[in-house]
Amino acid sequence: MTRILVVEDDPDLGLALRVLLTRAGYEVAHADDGREALRLLFAERPGLLLLDIGLPGLDGWEVLERTRDMSDLPVLLLTARGAESDRVRGLRAGADDYLPKPFGNDELLARVEALLRRSAPARWAGDSFGGDGLRLVPERRSAVWQGHEARLSDIEYRLLQVLVRNRGRVITTDQLLDRVWDDPEGTGRERVKFAVLRLRRKLRQAAGDEAADPLEAVRGLGYRYRAPDGPGGGAAGGQGAEGP
Ligand code: CA
Repeated sequence: MTRILVVEDDPDLGLALRVLLTRAGYEVAHADDGREALRLLFAERPGLLLLDIGLPGLDGWEVLERTRDMSDLPVLLLTARGAESDRVRGLRAGADDYLPKPFGNDELLARVEALLRRSAPARWAGDSFGGDGLRLVPERRSAVWQGHEARLSDIEYRLLQVLVRNRGRVITTDQLLDRVWDDPEGTGRERVKFAVLRLRRKLRQAAGDEAADPLEAVRGLGYRYRAPDGPGGGAAGGQGAEGP
């Protein structure tokens, strides 16, 4: 059963969310302020975080930032109505999706289901990630690939994070523009191509001249992180096409 941490300070909405998600078959933990949210994140290691932005004390932005220092779990933001800038800021800060208030129960459940479906099981700082040979180091914005650390730019780090979180699945250039560059209009496709090239080169250079990297360009579609045990097969090889 997936555990969801609900962070919402409005008592009525908090209760409604707890009831709704419990009835839908989730295990629910609830925090009504930011500090409690961080405590529960550590203690419960939920599979998904449902995070209100407007919180007393430590607000949702701070909670999101600290969450991303410890985990890649999927985060659904609850934002104030009409606050379009929250959406951009949220995606930039590492949220996976956002839902403006007020929202319908069905829509919330659909978003939660979709997010869980497309996310790999969450990984937590300090865990041995094993197997993959790749580990993200959020506090240094770097990646350890085959035991060698590669320092990444913010864009490269976010790019890798999105691909890793969706391991085994092809993420289209447009999806990457939206999630990494906040460019839903897709006006800068070339940027994606060159950022992926830079990222792959850094990973290969870190691991040694002839090393492979775990990313794959799927011609005409987008890019994929090849999980060793998931669709797409092993992380070896990979000297193929570099741009769709
Ligand atoms: Ca609130």
